[in-house]
Amino acid sequence: MRDRDIPLGLTFDDVLIIPRRSSLTSRKEVSLKTRFSKNIEIQIPLVSSPMDTVTEEAMAIKMARLGGIGVLHRFTTIERQVEMIKKVKRAENIVIEEPYTISPDATLGEARKLSEKLGVSGFMVVRNGKLEGILSRRDMLFQPNDTLVKQVMTPQERLIVAKGDISIEKAKEILWRHRIEMLPIVDEQWRLKGLITVSDILNKLRYPNSARDRKGRLLVAAAIGVRGDVISHADKLIDAGADALVIDVANGYIDLVINTVKKLKQEFPDIDIVAGNIATKEGAEALATAGADAIRVGIGPGSVCTTRIVAGVGVPQITAIMDSKEGAEPYDVPLIADGGIRYPGDIVKALAAGAESVMIGRLFAGTDESPGKIVLKNGKRFKVYRGMASFYARLARKTREMGEVELDRDIEDYAYTSEGVEAFVEYTGSVEEVVNRLISGVRAGMAYVGARTIRELWERAQFIRITNAGIRESHPHDVHTI
Ligand code: IMP
Repeated sequence: MRDRDIPLGLTFDDVLIIPRRSSLTSRKEVSLKTRFSKNIEIQIPLVSSPMDTVTEEAMAIKMARLGGIGVLHRFTTIERQVEMIKKVKRAENIVIEEPYTISPDATLGEARKLSEKLGVSGFMVVRNGKLEGILSRRDMLFQPNDTLVKQVMTPQERLIVAKGDISIEKAKEILWRHRIEMLPIVDEQWRLKGLITVSDILNKLRYPNSARDRKGRLLVAAAIGVRGDVISHADKLIDAGADALVIDVANGYIDLVINTVKKLKQEFPDIDIVAGNIATKEGAEALATAGADAIRVGIGPGSVCTTRIVAGVGVPQITAIMDSKEGAEPYDVPLIADGGIRYPGDIVKALAAGAESVMIGRLFAGTDESPGKIVLKNGKRFKVYRGMASFYARLARKTREMGEVELDRDIEDYAYTSEGVEAFVEYTGSVEEVVNRLISGVRAGMAYVGARTIRELWERAQFIRITNAGIRESHPHDVHTI
């Protein structure tokens, strides 16, 4: 039945949050701690999107260091996804339990290749499980590729090692006293048990607010689809150390997604499963009752998304979050507001509407940590950012899967129904600066309503609807900005 009583959908620009009396004396009193999913706590409410121009290991590592979490994209091979997860889990692990090793009989050429692939600068030199030496970047300097590792490594008799358990304080003292960068941990028989490095300790000090798992390793989530052998894919990602899996499809309110959530929860009850995307109360309810541990909300708000134009379907994001909240709240399932964030104020509004975190693509796509190179255009620096349902992203995926692609045969309606676009975004430097700017806006917003926590923001924030005149008044106006 057609209902002539059409409800109104509101988005970020349609609303403002009304200021309220506040007892806060400083914005520092605001805590941004929140839940990414039912069992995963993060320190700031920011999540980087699983897109191939946004989140690979560099972004995921930095997001977790800054207190948020990155979702590694799935538009690559499972092996590469596994490798990315492992890199995040190893970064900043105070005691690396399984350090990368190399044989004393390997060549420096092999060591260099491995060091580039794994992103590490040194190796433990091991034969039959026993530590025979250390090969550092300095040992390799200026030496030809056919030199053997054992010819240039620091040999066992000159190594400084720790035997058995050691506290971080003690490790720091040894590293400093001997002016060394790596401290291997061995047992009485010199079997390698772990490794402590200076750079990991420094990073931990530099990022005290980082988001970590129970073992002290950085948190990371990984995206997964709904086709093919989902269970075996999930198994590999979990085995590599993923803290959560994100079922990453455009429309989450379909039987296939609901059943995949159920299957994954049944098979892996200890891993948080995030599902989406949805934009309604019923959609949220369906995923929550299926067992989802967090729900991605957003149909069409993304900056490179054309779903609403192509398909005519979507819900403006503030309404989508509020409606979905009604569906998810009874099950205590957190919402991730996904897409459309342009300003720090949008994040405050998304949280106030009921989300516990926001997922961001575009604002992170122009940073050093996103994949891809900087492109120069008209004297300005850009990076490429593309919707995962855009033509070129789909073409790349099909080509990877099939080797060779015939457009009409292999990509359905390729010319017409791509629900995303490819774009340039301005290069914006380190993601740390972007995150700091966003977070400081969120703190400001929460202070204006006297909210010390995101839960208090839910209770205290009240929206007011504004008109186009209100939007004009909100932005700088009637001046020439410098
Ligand atoms: P942004 O932060 O506004 O750029 O939005 C990022 C979000 O857009 C992602 O997290 C996805 O939910 C969504 N998205 C990514 N690629 C596409 C696409 O090709 N079509 C529609 N939505 C997309």
